[in-house]
Amino acid sequence: MTPPLTPLEFDQRHLWHPYTNVTKPGRTFLVKEAEGVHITLEDGTRLIDAMSSWWCMMHGHRHPVITAAMKAQIDTLPHVMFGGLTHEPSVELGRRLLEITPDSLQRIFYCDSGSVSVEVAMKMAVQYQHAMGQPGRSEFATVRSGYHGDTWKAMSVCDPDTGMHHLFQGALSVQHFVSRPPVAMGQEWCEDPEQNGLGELRRVLEAGQDRIAGFILEPVVQGTGGMYFYHPEYLNQARALCDEFGVLLIFDEIATGFARTGQMFATDFCSVEPDILCLGKGLTGGHISFAVTLTNDRVAEGIGGGNPGIFMHGPTYMANPLACAAACAAIDVLTGQDWRGRIADIAAQMQAELAPARDLPGVRDVRVLGAIGVIEMDHPVSADEAHALAPDTGVFLRPFGHNIYTMPPFISTPEQLSAVTAAMLRLARVL
Ligand code: PMP
Repeated sequence: MTPPLTPLEFDQRHLWHPYTNVTKPGRTFLVKEAEGVHITLEDGTRLIDAMSSWWCMMHGHRHPVITAAMKAQIDTLPHVMFGGLTHEPSVELGRRLLEITPDSLQRIFYCDSGSVSVEVAMKMAVQYQHAMGQPGRSEFATVRSGYHGDTWKAMSVCDPDTGMHHLFQGALSVQHFVSRPPVAMGQEWCEDPEQNGLGELRRVLEAGQDRIAGFILEPVVQGTGGMYFYHPEYLNQARALCDEFGVLLIFDEIATGFARTGQMFATDFCSVEPDILCLGKGLTGGHISFAVTLTNDRVAEGIGGGNPGIFMHGPTYMANPLACAAACAAIDVLTGQDWRGRIADIAAQMQAELAPARDLPGVRDVRVLGAIGVIEMDHPVSADEAHALAPDTGVFLRPFGHNIYTMPPFISTPEQLSAVTAAMLRLARVL
């Protein structure tokens, strides 16, 4: 009789991992448990999770306040359908969200994951335009180098060339792309519309006046599309253009929300507010999948006043009470601390410790914004090779494209953060 497969053998034989070749999976570590900034492997090796588990575990793994809230919720109401029923956790979360999100966004749609919240946002925009008597407006404008998720409509607004989705090009809705905002964060703003990208945006919105429902982008930080930080004035002026051409402005803050950039939301760098906002990832402090799409009364009432009036979306696990309880606790953990001071300290330490990377061969740029630290190389870097070094450095990093980057948990001590920056410098030397 053949012995049963070990967990890792079973995994390699049967389980598909994100963005991998299932027939040639790269190195995979078996994780036994996780606590705080650490993940512990089967053999007892402890690694600092410098990715915050793809940017969501911002308060650390198994945060006691968040897990206690979830345990209490499991014992009373882990789930109930949201059609015709409601519950305290959803209302409590709504109250908390309204306190911290832009004032004009008063209508809340809970959904399952970041990509789904983008789908919901895009549907809201199309349904709003339909209700306004503009059924032809079903396309979207967006900036290049963006990333909004892996579902179909979200894919259609990811970067068409460098994104991971070019394979699907023929099957995707055609959207309207403009250059990524050319003035970087920290550079002096340039008023010339031909230099600051807004001339191009104006032309696209004007030409697509009868076809474009919304303009969607990640405010200030483009994440997966290149870890690029741009000037918030672009967004202020884009808002005016959207108003001029009857286009809804959609901010995808799935990666930037909940203080990652040093502001509670990247929107807070701007003087304007979007019509629709997507949040996810850090919403539950990484403890359970959840996301939300917020919109203003204008859009909600527009949709409500149209025909059929009802908004056509309603997932099975909408407003899952367990996820709502986790999110309430995660927001309390965040707002109950001096998060501005915390993120500023992390940023200052990363600035100082990553600066020497500038002198390394192959390094194109080093940049830090809030709790995001990036070493951009002039060549692609391999995630597999980085993983192989993790047991040695004690830090789990997963570079992509040209970027070796970290989004450390906010609870990282200075020593833990130093270990992360040292590991990044080491990768920059060898990859
Ligand atoms: N939008 C942005 C800006 C993201 O960074 C991501 C995830 N990396 C998504 C959408 C998709 O979120 P999810 O993976 O939860 O579907």
